[in-house]
Amino acid sequence: MNDTIAAISTTLGVGAISIIRVSGKDAIKEVNKITNIDLTKKESHTISYGYIKNNNEIIDEVLITIMKAPKTFTKENIVEINCHGGIATTKKTLELLLEQNIRLAEPGEFTKRAFLNGRIDLIESEAVMNLINVKNEKSRKIAINNLKGSTTNQIKKLREKILKILTNIEVNIDYPEYHDIEVLTIEKLKKELITIEQSLDKLIENSKVSKLLTNGINVAIIGRPNVGKSSILNKLIEEDKAIVTDIPGTTRDIVEAGLNIDGITLNLIDTAGIRETEDIVEKIGVEKSKEIIEKSDLILLVLNNNEKLTKEDEKLLELSKNKLRIIVVNKSDLDKKLEINLPNTVYTNTIDDEGLSKLIEKIKELFNLDQIETDDFYYISNINQVKKIENTKNSIKDIKEGLENNIPIDMLEIDLKNIWQTLGEVIGETYTEELLDNLFKDFCVGK
Ligand code: GDP
Repeated sequence: MNDTIAAISTTLGVGAISIIRVSGKDAIKEVNKITNIDLTKKESHTISYGYIKNNNEIIDEVLITIMKAPKTFTKENIVEINCHGGIATTKKTLELLLEQNIRLAEPGEFTKRAFLNGRIDLIESEAVMNLINVKNEKSRKIAINNLKGSTTNQIKKLREKILKILTNIEVNIDYPEYHDIEVLTIEKLKKELITIEQSLDKLIENSKVSKLLTNGINVAIIGRPNVGKSSILNKLIEEDKAIVTDIPGTTRDIVEAGLNIDGITLNLIDTAGIRETEDIVEKIGVEKSKEIIEKSDLILLVLNNNEKLTKEDEKLLELSKNKLRIIVVNKSDLDKKLEINLPNTVYTNTIDDEGLSKLIEKIKELFNLDQIETDDFYYISNINQVKKIENTKNSIKDIKEGLENNIPIDMLEIDLKNIWQTLGEVIGETYTEELLDNLFKDFCVGK
């Protein structure tokens, strides 16, 4: 942490400018060695014009920003060099920096330093990464919420609540003669535990939703030939407000198209199956159909409103019955011949402009996507951290069971302390090196 690090913070490629970021105690002193500007005389948070020089050779014409500790992202001295974009120029400047007393930053190291120096907590660090990776408007909104600390505040409140219970237990044990101090009855404790449990439930649930928002919902459109699968797919593509070209975090081989609809990303899987003209179940086989169904978060099972239910339809209904699915009764513009009475059924057609609106509404409803408009959407994006929260929920269950079995309240203190401790780990009040390494390794270099 005492050394000075540097990395190219913009994407390395041809562009108008590239930014190289340098952070560390000696950042200003070291960069000063390769420029004609006297950076040591510059005020904090100022930009200067000058050159990057290798002895007498001019390497690039640049703008250099000086930001002095502690009012910086890492709370260390930071120098940012705006070079001309272009691989050779940017790399040459970086090489020159690395010849000084500066080393190349590891992925996520700037953010790691921001965390270690107390500038941001763990959840905010993750929000930084999420903000970089977001693919749609809704994910951006929730990531920026977390960067503002909404989840951290929720978890802090929970910890305070637990601490209050612990204090109460301690006082009751140590000073039983203090009658004016409220005795924590089992009933009161149970009530408190239920509210804590509900908050944890919401946190876990929201975290799942946020994962779907960030990575997209894997959707399979299945149905027998001619029910309108490709027409639906094409119509959805038309609706797409921003084409998703790259979908990290999803298994590329199964995802064939990523669509952004109303701020949510749908990863359509196995579109080849959609385009089959022959019997889908026979052609690709029951096993393959099962596989596709298995891989998806959501099935759109398309039926034809204008035809009676067939054996193939029944087969597909059976195969997908345990998955989250929407029964899409298509061709609603034609005479109704299909009788079906199943949950999550919507009527669509690909003829009218609004023909698919009910389908889109249903998808949002199933994933509670509308609730994330609210400002108090708190969530955790790191899967290991979510697991920790799930464990704390199990501990609460154990405490509740203990109370049912008349175990004295003070015996349950240790479980409560553990929950308090775990919640602290989630926001990073306590952490291990291993945890940090795992967390920051997924960041890009330069962040
Ligand atoms: P797929 O084999 O399931 O992919 O079905 P297609 O999308 O190729 O559609 C089969 C036929 O149904 C085509 O002639 C479409 O134009 C027609 N079709 C699709 N959706 C609708 C709809 O909502 N209403 C009507 N009337 N025809 C539709």
